Amino acid sequence: MRKLIYGTLVVLAATSPFVLAPFVLAAESMAPPARMQVTPEKPLKELPYTPSLDVSAMDRSADPCDDLYQFACGSWLKNNPIPPDQQRWDVYGKLSADNQRYLWGILDDAAKNIANRTPTQQKIGDYFAACMDTDAVEKAGISPLKEDLARIADLRDKKALATVLGDMHQRVITGGMLFNSGVQQDAKDATKQIASVDAGGLGLPDRDYYVKTDAKSVEVREKYVEHITRMFMLLGEPTPTAKADAATVMRLETALAKASLTAVEKRDPYKVYHRETLASLSKMAPAFSWPAYFKSVGLNPQPWLNVSQPAFLKEMNARLAQESLPTIRTYLRWTVIAATAPYLSSPYVNESFAFNRKYMRGVEEDRPRWKKCVTWVDRDLGDALGREYVARTFTPDMKEKTVKMTRQIEDAMRARIGQLDWMSPDTKTQAVAKLEKIRNKVGYPDLWRDYSSLTIERSDFFDNVTAAVRFESLRQAAKIGKPVDRGEWGMSAPTVNAYYDASMNDVNFPAGVLMPPLYDAKSDDAPNYGDTGGTIGHELTHGFDDEGRQYDGDGNLRDWWTKDDAEKFEKRAQCIRDQYSQYTIVDDVKINGALTSGEDIADLGGELLAWMAWQDQTKAMRLAERDGLTPSQRFFVGFAQWACSNDRPESLRVNAVVDPHSPPRHRINGVAVNMPEFAQAFSCKVGAKLVKKPEDLCKVW
Ligand SMILES: [Zn+2]
Repeated sequence: MRKLIYGTLVVLAATSPFVLAPFVLAAESMAPPARMQVTPEKPLKELPYTPSLDVSAMDRSADPCDDLYQFACGSWLKNNPIPPDQQRWDVYGKLSADNQRYLWGILDDAAKNIANRTPTQQKIGDYFAACMDTDAVEKAGISPLKEDLARIADLRDKKALATVLGDMHQRVITGGMLFNSGVQQDAKDATKQIASVDAGGLGLPDRDYYVKTDAKSVEVREKYVEHITRMFMLLGEPTPTAKADAATVMRLETALAKASLTAVEKRDPYKVYHRETLASLSKMAPAFSWPAYFKSVGLNPQPWLNVSQPAFLKEMNARLAQESLPTIRTYLRWTVIAATAPYLSSPYVNESFAFNRKYMRGVEEDRPRWKKCVTWVDRDLGDALGREYVARTFTPDMKEKTVKMTRQIEDAMRARIGQLDWMSPDTKTQAVAKLEKIRNKVGYPDLWRDYSSLTIERSDFFDNVTAAVRFESLRQAAKIGKPVDRGEWGMSAPTVNAYYDASMNDVNFPAGVLMPPLYDAKSDDAPNYGDTGGTIGHELTHGFDDEGRQYDGDGNLRDWWTKDDAEKFEKRAQCIRDQYSQYTIVDDVKINGALTSGEDIADLGGELLAWMAWQDQTKAMRLAERDGLTPSQRFFVGFAQWACSNDRPESLRVNAVVDPHSPPRHRINGVAVNMPEFAQAFSCKVGAKLVKKPEDLCKVW
C-alpha cells in the first residue's frame, strides 16, 4: 500500500507514514496558536484544484542533493500545520479531507431531498441523517448496548460463551473480541474461499505494548488501565470494582499478547498459514465450543479453515479453561464497550477519544460529527457512496489515461525483469508469468455491490451500524464454497489510497487516489509519472517484494524461485533493510527495517518503473524547462511531493510499532539515494548526502 496500514482483510482508515524533523518546523509555524476565527466548514460542491507539481510547496533554499524531501516539501511543511482533529497532516490527508467535504455534500443532499431517491441514495441518506441526529444518540445513552450487556451478565456457563461471542462477532464492530474470524482465500489454493480464525483480543495497537519494559511502554499500560477503569465507571461500577476489573482485563490481555506473533513475524505468510479442520481446531482449543461458534457467527468451516496463530489459540484456550466466569464476563463487558463507544453518547465517545486518539496519538480535538458520519457511510456503504462519487468526479477520459499509465508501468516491469543481471532465465520466466496474470483495477468496480437486503432506518443510528456490520459478515460468509469474485474491491472508490492483493494477484487504484494533486490531467507528464506512476509501480512491485514474491501468478503461496535466485533476492532485500534501519523516526526510536522492507522495496521499485515508463512516454517529445526545473527535476519533485507530511510525535511512536511504512522523509530520500538518475537530474556531486558510491547502491528490481 502506498500509504495506509493494512491487514490481510481489513484496511484501517486514516493512518500513514510519518516525518521526523518536520514536526519541529510545524510546531514553529503553529506557534502561537492565536485561535484564528475559523469559519465553520461547509460541504464542497466541487473538489479544489492543486497542480501535481506545486512550486509553492518547495523550499528552494534546501539542497536537493542533501535532502530532496526538504527541497520539494519544505514550504508545504511550514504552511500546513496539523489541524487539531488530525493525528497527521499530509498531501494524501488533505485530499482525503477535501474528498470528505465533497462526500458530505452528496450525503447532505441524499439526507434532505428525500423525494425521488434511488434505493441506494435512500440508504446513504438515511444512514447519514441518523448518524447526524446527535440528540437521538445522546438520548439513547447506553441503551443500545443494554441487551448485549444483559446477555453477558447472564452468562452462567462457559459452554454458552461460543454462541454469545459468535452473535457479537457477527454484528458488533468488535476489534477482535477475544479473537477474530472471517473469510479468506486459501493461501495455498487461491481458488478457494475458506473460513479463518485469527488472533485478536487486544485493546492496545500491538502486542509489543504489553511486553516492552521501556518507560514509555510502562506509562502507556498505566494510562490504559486508567482508561478501562473509567469506562467501567461509566457503566455504573463503583471505583474499587472498576479498578479491580480493569486489572483483570489487563492481566488477560497481557497473557493473550504474549502468545501473539509480532508485526514482523506476521509478514511471513508461512507463519500465519495453518490449515486445520473443525475437528483438529476443537482438539487444539477444546475449552471453546467451535461448532456452536461457527453456527452462531454464520461461517462454514468446511472443508478446512486457516488458523493463523495456533499458539495464540492455545493460550486463549488455557485462559478459558482456567479463568472464572466472572473474569470472562468482565473481559467481554470491556471489549463490547470499547468497540462500540464511538457510536454511543458523548461520555463514551469522549472517554474513547481521550485515550485512543488524544493520549496515544496526540490529537487535540475530536473530529466534528459530520466527518465521522462520512467515514462510517464510506465504511459501511462504500459502493453506494462510491457510485455517486464516481458519477460526479471520475470521467471516462481520466479512466482511460490512468489505465494507459498502468499498462505502461507494467511494460516497464516486463522490460526491467529482462534486464536484471542477477536473476536466472528460469526465475525470469516465472516472474514474467506472474506479471502477465496481474489484474489492473482502476477507478471503481465493474459491478457495484447490491445492498438491497440491508435495511437502513432514518430513526436509529446504532441499529444501522450493527445491521451494516451484520450485512458485511453475511456477505463474507456467503463466499465460502463459491468461486472467487475476481472483480471485488477491498477499498471504496472515494478512498485516497491503493493496494496490491497477493491472493488475488491484482492492483487496485480507487478513483480517489487518481485526483489532483496526485494525478493531474492538466499537468505535463513528468510530475504525474513521478507521483502516480510511482504509486502504480509501488503496488505492482508489492507482487515482487520480500512478502509478495512468495506467491505465484495464481495467488498461491508457492516457491517459484531457484534457490540461488532466492538467496540473491534476500541479499538485496537485506541491503534495503540495513539502509532504512539506520534512519530515526522520533527521539531514539529507529525504523524497524524488517517491518518496513516490503514497503521500502516497493517504493524503490515503483519509482524505477515510473522513471522507465516516463522515459518511454516522452522519448519522441521535446521537453522544456518549467518553473526553473528541468523535466527530470520535475519528475523527482513530483515524486517527492506525494509525501509532504507533518506528524505528531505521539503518533510517530505508535507508527514505529505498527506501521509497515517508513516515515515520508525517508521514503523519499531513501529512494533518491539509490537512483543514479536522481543524482544526474540535479548534478549532485560525490559527497552529497543523497549520493552513494555505485557499489553501495541498493537495487532489488
Ligand atoms: Zn505499499
